[in-house]
Parts: sequence; C-alpha cells; structure tokens
Amino acid sequence: MKEPQRWEAEHLSPETVVQGVHSLLEDYFSASKTGTDKVLQQVPPRQIAEALDSADILSQGFASEEQLLEFIRIYLQHTNHLNNPKYFGHQVAVPHQLSGIPEWIHGVINNPSSLYEMGPAGATLEGVMINYLLQKLDWFTGTDLYDFKLQSEGGSGFLTHGGSVANLSALAAARAAIAPEAWNEGNPDDLVVLGPASSHYSIGRAISLLGLGKKAFVPVPVLANEKMKVDALESIYSEIKNSGKRVMAVVANACATSTGLYDNLKAIGDFCQKHGLWYHVDGAHGAAALLSPIHRSKLDGITQADSVIWDAHKMMRVPALCTAVLFKKGIHQRSAFQQKGSYVFHENDVVGMDSMPYTIECTKSALGTKFFWSFALHGEQGLTRFIDTTFAVTHAFYQLLQNRPDFHCPFATESNILCFQYTQMEQHLHQQLALRYALINKGDVYLTSCEIQGERYLRVVFMNSRTTLEHCEELLKSIVQTASSL
Ligand SMILES: *Cc1c(COP(=O)(O)O)cnc(C)c1O
Repeated sequence: MKEPQRWEAEHLSPETVVQGVHSLLEDYFSASKTGTDKVLQQVPPRQIAEALDSADILSQGFASEEQLLEFIRIYLQHTNHLNNPKYFGHQVAVPHQLSGIPEWIHGVINNPSSLYEMGPAGATLEGVMINYLLQKLDWFTGTDLYDFKLQSEGGSGFLTHGGSVANLSALAAARAAIAPEAWNEGNPDDLVVLGPASSHYSIGRAISLLGLGKKAFVPVPVLANEKMKVDALESIYSEIKNSGKRVMAVVANACATSTGLYDNLKAIGDFCQKHGLWYHVDGAHGAAALLSPIHRSKLDGITQADSVIWDAHKMMRVPALCTAVLFKKGIHQRSAFQQKGSYVFHENDVVGMDSMPYTIECTKSALGTKFFWSFALHGEQGLTRFIDTTFAVTHAFYQLLQNRPDFHCPFATESNILCFQYTQMEQHLHQQLALRYALINKGDVYLTSCEIQGERYLRVVFMNSRTTLEHCEELLKSIVQTASSL
C-alpha cells in the first residue's frame, strides 16, 4: 500500500478532522451562548504562542489528528467569545453557527470572485447581492435581480474587503468625477473634502492615501452630539469657494461609529444637490436600517447620495469581512480607475461580469457567497428582526440608565450603539478608560470606549441577538463592583 504523503497532509483523515472540529465548535458555541463563561481571557501573546506549540507545528506540521484537534481546542480558548451575550464590543457581526459554511467551501475550492471565469457562482451571487442592495436604495434600473448588465445611468456596485477600502474606492470615484486628469497627472491642489470631524478615521486615511494631504479634509462644525451642523454648510462652502478651492466630496455618517447617531442625510443631500457636489454616505454600520420599516426613516435622503458604502460584516451578520460600494450612476464606477491590464481586462467577449476592473483588490474572496448565505440562513425577515431587536434592546438599556443616578448618557440612542459614563468615581471623567480596561481584564463582559467632544465614555454595541436587558443589568453590576476596586 502507498504510504500517506506527509507533505500533502495525507496522514490526516479529513473525516476525523471535520468531525472533531465540528464537535469542538459545537462545544464552544453552546458554552459561550449561555453567558456563564468569560467573554475574553486576556493573556500575553507569548503565552498563547507557547500554548499553541506554534514554533514546533510551524516547522513539523501536525503529526496527527489528535494534535490538530488539541491545537484547535487551545486556539478556541484564546478567542474573544462574541457568541457570549455579554459581548458588547466592537461593531463586528456575531455570526450564526452555520455562517462559516461558505468560508469552508471557499477554503476548499478557492474561487476568487473578481473574475467571473475564476468563480462563476461566487461572482453571480455578488451580482445578486449588489442588485438587492441597489433596490434597497431605489437605484436599481435593471429588469430583475438577475440583470447583471453594468448600467451607466442606473445604479451599480461591487463588494470589497471592508469599509476602509470601500471608503477609499468611493472617494477615488469622487476624485475621478471632479478631476479626471488626476489619474495620470497627479492631484490638482484645489480639492477638499467636507465632513463631520466624527467621520470614521478611514475617511481621513483615504484622503491622505489619495495624495490630497490630510489638510484637504475640512471638518464641518458639529452639534454637541457630533452630528453635522447642517446650517454651517453654506458658510463653510462660500469660504472654500472664496479661497479658490473646489469640494471633491461631502461625507455624511449613517451612523457615526462612536455615537451611533445618524447625520441629517436629507438636508445634507439637498445642499449637495443645490451646489452640484459629490455626496458620499458612509453607511458602513447603519445603512442596514434600510431593511427595517421601523428605522428606515433615519436614512431618509440616502438615495440623494452619489456613493454609499455598506458593511455586511456589521449588521448583516456576515463574518468579517464584506462591504458593498454602491454608486447611483454606474458611469462613476467605470471611470474611477483608468487602467488596462492585458491579461485581465478584456472588454468584449466576456461571459458574465468581472468586478476586477473596479476594485482596489486584484484577487478577492467569494464575498457575494457569504453575504448571500446570511440571507439564506435568516431570510430577509430574520435580518430585519435582528436589526429591530438590537436597536430595541439598546433603547431599553438607555431608558434603564435614565433611572440610574449613578450613570449618565449624553444623548438618546438611534441605533444599537450607546455611550455612557459611570459617574460615581472620584475623577469620573478621567477614569472611564481605566474602568473599561479593568472590566475587560476581568473578562465577564466586553465593551469598548470612545471620545465624544474630547470627553471619554464607555460604549456598548449590541451585536448579539441573545443579549437582553438582564445582561445589561449584569453589566451595570460589574461596572459598579469593578469601579469600587479601582
Ligand atoms: C466600521 C466603520 C468603518 C470601517 O469599516 P471596516 O469594515 O472596519 O474597515 C467605516 N465607517 C464607519 C462609519 C464605520 O462604522
């Protein structure tokens, strides 16, 4: 009989491994979801590297199925348990137990979806998802969900690896619209971008990466809750014009990362329309509310945008990461990059559609498949219900805090993000961050923190569909207890 080839991992039985991994993940999932275990146990990376025996495995590979499964068991111990209902952390989807199936399949077949011929099924599902999102924005002009023709006057879009890349892609299209010569000649020196200072940092990064320089970002004054002060736009715009500059784009938050509050998209849209300015809506977190009849009105005016980004790996329950970049007019998608590559960009004779000419990535994973899968598991109704439920429990938590004299919320919530302070500490303004670290070092709860108008707050994001008000009560108990020992 032929010896199994170690270098091809033939000594590992796929069946044993898959069953073993399934059983470990099942245990992981059932233990985390009860919320009795810790969310996170922080240990230094050296300790993890040693526990995983990573140097040895790196050089020798797994000797057996047992060693592989032991590795995974230890690996899972050193993870942030998002499935724990006391996970109040970053805006990262808490996926369903079966969400990993498309990633598994992708890992086996590796069909990148940027070229249709390299992954026809994945590229097709990307097309379906883009059409679906365009319909939500009222930008879809095709005949039906299966009409994949790239429109010039109608909406278009693609999936990309994350909101930061998506913001960069959209702003590149905005630059191509106002200064098409920039691609070959470099930037003219009169371009600026307007947005609230509370814009996500990836906006500033994109502006610098595009070579405009950080100074090209002109912050629009904000209200105390960091929403854009819309009535400041006219005067700031005249100042810019008088100084001989041109506005490349106006950026709005839907919603802001730190506060979870929505800018007045309609009023900003009206302003952009009046002056013929590119309007970019960063809907990474909050565009998902378009699915909800209860919360949709928070996005009134979003259809006036020229470009929108929408993260699927936040509120659409897709494992990280997957983001849509959407344009009201397909022509803008087509003119963003002015490049040809002889081996990939064949304009004629292509069966199906390639997203590669329009994306920053060359190779990209089968993003459409995992996005589609979330709908396949939960149904559109299930995702809508998820959004409504998380928004509702956040609001209930806000109301609970209103009856607690030892806590302070700077403003009411509009989404599933809420900022607050514990006020009973001697230097309460300065100690919020210390309190946050003390809490996550204990590990029973996980939450984040942010600065609003220069002041520090604790911040909770309700991403877990199993989180209830009881878990919030436990969070408050932990805060009070932990603060007393600071
Ligand atoms: C999360 C977020 C981003 C960044 O998205 P990533 O997918 O994490 O790169 C951009 N903008 C807003 C408003 C966000 O909330």
